[in-house]
Amino acid sequence: MITISLNEANFEYDIHSLAKSFFPKEEVKVSADKGRLQKLEEGEAPFLRMEITYRRPEEGEPVEVPLDGPGAHRGSPGEIGIRLYGGEADASPIAQETVPVDFWDRKDTKDRLKRCLYQMLSQYTGQKLPWGTLTGIRPTKIPTSLFGRGIGEEEIREYMADTYLATEAKINLSIEIAKQEIKLLRGVDYKDGYSLYIGIPFCPSICSYCSFSSSPIGLWEGRVEAYLEALGKELDFTSKACRDKKLNSVYIGGGTPTTLSPNQLDRLLTKVESKFNLSNLAEYTVEAGRPDSITKEKLKTLRSHGISRISINPQTMKQETLDIIGRRHTVAQAIESFWLAREMGFGNINMDLIVGLPGERTEDVANTLRQIEELSPDSLTVHSLAIKRAAKLKMFAEDYAGLTMESSWEQMDMASRCAKSLGMLPYYLYRQKNMAGNFENVGYARPGKAGIYNILMMEEKQSIVACGAGSVSKRVYPDGRIERCENVKDVASFIERIDEMIERKRKLLED
Ligand code: SF4
Repeated sequence: MITISLNEANFEYDIHSLAKSFFPKEEVKVSADKGRLQKLEEGEAPFLRMEITYRRPEEGEPVEVPLDGPGAHRGSPGEIGIRLYGGEADASPIAQETVPVDFWDRKDTKDRLKRCLYQMLSQYTGQKLPWGTLTGIRPTKIPTSLFGRGIGEEEIREYMADTYLATEAKINLSIEIAKQEIKLLRGVDYKDGYSLYIGIPFCPSICSYCSFSSSPIGLWEGRVEAYLEALGKELDFTSKACRDKKLNSVYIGGGTPTTLSPNQLDRLLTKVESKFNLSNLAEYTVEAGRPDSITKEKLKTLRSHGISRISINPQTMKQETLDIIGRRHTVAQAIESFWLAREMGFGNINMDLIVGLPGERTEDVANTLRQIEELSPDSLTVHSLAIKRAAKLKMFAEDYAGLTMESSWEQMDMASRCAKSLGMLPYYLYRQKNMAGNFENVGYARPGKAGIYNILMMEEKQSIVACGAGSVSKRVYPDGRIERCENVKDVASFIERIDEMIERKRKLLED
C-alpha cells in the first residue's frame, strides 16, 4: 500500500491516478484526513508514504520562490511541497521537492504538481511512463483541440513534451491520430447532428475480463421480449425528442446484439428504420462481437437492413486462452463467421484483439496477428487488457495465478505493424484505468473504413443519445459543456423503470 497525505483536499484524483500509473498493482490511498490514513497505516504498513503540502502565503507575506514564465504572479502565488518517505513512520524523507505555483491558475498548478510528482516517482522507481503525466482516457483530445485553435504541429509537440513529459513515440501517435480524426470528422454536423447508441446487454457467456455488466442470454431468454419492448418505448421517445436533428451514426452494441434471434433483430432494425430518419446516416454499425452468436440468418437480416459495418471479435486466436477467459467459442468459429460475413457481402468488418490476456506470450500474439493478416479485415481494434474491479479476472485473481498477464511494447508494436501491413492507419485511441502496463487501445482502419461513431464517442464533440440498459447519453452543448444521463444497468430494473429512464432522457434533451 502507498499512502499520500494532503494538508487540504485538492487534486486528489490526479495524484491518485499518477501514483497508480507507477504502481498499478498497489493500493494507493490519497486523503486530507490524517486520522483516516493513520488508521489504514496501522492496519497495513505502507512501503511508500508521501506528504503533499499546499502553501498559500498570507497576504503581504513575501513569496520566497517566485513563479517564472508568462503569467507569473497573476493572482495567488504559492508553492507545493512534496515529500517521499519509505515505510518507516518516523524516517526522514528519502526525497523532497518544492514547486512554485499560482493557485489562481488551476490547470497550470495541476500540471506543475503532476510534473514534480512524476519526476520524483520516476527517480524513485527508475521508470519512465510513455504518456508522462497524462493519466486521462482521451490523450488525443489535447492535439485535436490545439490543432482546432490553429496551433502548429511543432508547437504541439513541444507543448506535450514540456507540459506532460510524454515520450516522442506517444506524441507522434497522438498527433497522427488527431490528424486522422480531424480529416474523418470534417463534414460532421456537430450542432444539428447526433448519434444513436442502442445497447443489447446479453451475451452467450460472460468473459472473465468483462466489466460491462452483460447478462448471459441463457438465463435471460424469458425476459428478452420484455427488454425489447422497453427499449422500443425508449426509442419511440428518442425519435420524437430528436426529430429536428440529423442522425449521423447508429451503433448497436452491448453486450452482443447478435444474441437476439433473427426475428428479434429484424423487429429492432425495422423499429429504427420506421422511427428515425436515416437519410443523413454516415455509418450504421452492429457489433456482432461474439463469433458464437453469428449465424447466416442473422447476417442476412443485418444485410437486408443496410448495416454498413459489423465487428467480429476473436480477441485471440489461441484456443487455450479463449477457454481460460470464458468466451466459449472456438478459433474456427471466428474464422468461419468472418468468411461467412464476407461471402454475404459485408465490405466493412472490424476485428477486436486483446493483448495481455492470461498466459499469452509474445509468440501467441504473433500467431494471432498472422491469422488476422490472412483474414484481412477492414479495421482492427487492439485493446490492452484492463482489469476492472468488477471483472471476474480481478475477483478470482487466484484462479489465474501463475499465468502471465502482461502486454508489452513489443506486442503492441507487432499489432501496429500488422495493421500497417494491412493498409490501415491509427484513427482513434483511448486509455482505461488499470490498464496493463500503462498502454492504450488503438483503432486502426483502411481508408474509408474507420468507425466514425468511435471517434465521436471519444472526442465528445457531438451528442450521443443512448438507449438500453447501462447506456449513457451525452448532450454536448455548443460551448463544449457536456451533460450526461445514465440508464440503470440491471436488465430487470431497466424493464421495470423504463418510464423513469425516459423521464431522465426528457430532462437531458429538452431545451
Ligand atoms: S462479449 Fe463483451 S460484453 Fe459480452 S461478456 Fe464478453 S466482454 Fe462482456
